[in-house]
Amino acid sequence: MSQRNVTVLGATGSIGVNTLDVIARHPERYRALALSGHSRLDLLAAQCAAHKPRYAVVGTAEAAASLRDKLGSLAVEVLHGADALAQVASLPEVDTVMAAIVGAAGLQPTLAAVRAGKRVLLANKEALVMAGELFMHEVEASGAVLLPVDSEHNAIYQSLPAGYDGNLARAGVTKLLLTASGGPFRTLPLEALEFVTPEQACAHPNWVMGKKISVDSATMMNKGLEVIEARWLFNAPTDKIEVVIHPQSVIHSLVQYVDGSVLAQLGNPDMRTPIAHALAYPERIAAGVAPLDLFAIGRLDFCAPDLARFPCLALAYRALNSGGNAPAVLNAANEIAVAAFLDGRLAYRRIADVIAATLDKIPQAPVADLQSVMVADALARDTAATVSAHWGH
Ligand code: NAD
Ligand code: MG
Repeated sequence: MSQRNVTVLGATGSIGVNTLDVIARHPERYRALALSGHSRLDLLAAQCAAHKPRYAVVGTAEAAASLRDKLGSLAVEVLHGADALAQVASLPEVDTVMAAIVGAAGLQPTLAAVRAGKRVLLANKEALVMAGELFMHEVEASGAVLLPVDSEHNAIYQSLPAGYDGNLARAGVTKLLLTASGGPFRTLPLEALEFVTPEQACAHPNWVMGKKISVDSATMMNKGLEVIEARWLFNAPTDKIEVVIHPQSVIHSLVQYVDGSVLAQLGNPDMRTPIAHALAYPERIAAGVAPLDLFAIGRLDFCAPDLARFPCLALAYRALNSGGNAPAVLNAANEIAVAAFLDGRLAYRRIADVIAATLDKIPQAPVADLQSVMVADALARDTAATVSAHWGH
């Protein structure tokens, strides 16, 4: 078997670390050829020592100098900046790109991998939320293979017929059911939401993740972003995507068929499963994940999401239905509001208010190209920052 070269964008994050864990279990199959990191340079240096990539990419010239210092005599070429990310995502010798940078910063390098026709393992859902239609056109044009790593979308991918061609009706599919844990505040009295802290918001009951997605899970904006992600990945109209709260996070999502069948993918909540699935597809490889113990789990529960508790979910539906620049505006406003909340500058409940006000203020516009997406993103960041400073403390 020939070894595949992999670029891991966002190697120092939660998904990146899990990806390198799976890669390390299969040295005969995969080689980490390029790693990127933004702030945790000590971790990136340790990853370079363990995986001996040819390239490491960081944000700035100063960070590059500091990383070179830490690497000593290790033969790793250290690059920096947005162009370098795009470069390692499209190297001819790279077969697979794990897109695991968080937020809008991941869009351009992920698109570079798509344009180069790579096998793209997509964790960076914000890229699809911002530019779904353009992104999917690029996938079609380049022949890139797009494999979802987000656990729900990976579960749906596994539950759809092999070779699914983007036509739900022809595949006999009547609904995609996206499961959601409901996060740490699913049962907290509504009044108490006023006072929740970043620490509480980041303490997810089932998953260990980066801070931004942890807050998104608490507000359920994460599920809203995932509805938009599913719309583009599977060419699914909004009314064919339903969110189901399932607190145990054992069923990762389901596909309902016209004959009454419902297919689902189950497993322990461990991202190494979808990562290994996407790395090896259509084969299967060990991921280091414990076998599912149904007797220990005992029961599975389901309920409908409460939009009064989770207004961010409703905002995501609003942006998806508006189309054009609205999803990019939603995403950017959310990034700004979540950062302000994590910094202690904005109350938890105001996150949804900042996003709603930003959507209200920015005129609806079509997005013809990437440039118009980036304009919407920048405008929404400015607007959300102003609104957030006004409501903040
Ligand atoms: P994280 O915060 O743990 O890691 C983010 C990575 O992106 C880090 O390597 C960081 O250095 C890099 N990064 C941050 N800002 C950057 C910038 N401006 N430029 C370049 N690189 C930058 O996040 P995570 O939890 O690993 O999530 C990564 C992506 O995967 C997100 O889009 C998230 O929604 C998605 N995702 C994560 C999980 C999970 O379990 N963690 C599950 C599903 C989807
Ligand atoms: Mg998910």
